[in-house]
Amino acid sequence: MNCVICKQAETIEGKTTITLERDGLTLVIKNVPASVCPDCGEAYVTEAVTAQLLRTAEETAAAQAVVDVREYSSAR
Ligand SMILES: [Zn+2]
Repeated sequence: MNCVICKQAETIEGKTTITLERDGLTLVIKNVPASVCPDCGEAYVTEAVTAQLLRTAEETAAAQAVVDVREYSSAR
């Protein structure tokens, strides 16, 4: 799709790093599948991936972590 931020380029399939902050937890998730703009670097993540990220954040917050870095996993 055409990037909605810069409108200069078509996004390409790639990976991005997402940082989530909630309830005092900072969670960094690497290798998240995304459509990435080669011009401005904006990453677009699907709703299904976002839902998975939020589940991961809730699990991590439940474990009382403060800072955690994970690889993206869609296995569960
Ligand atoms: Zn862009």
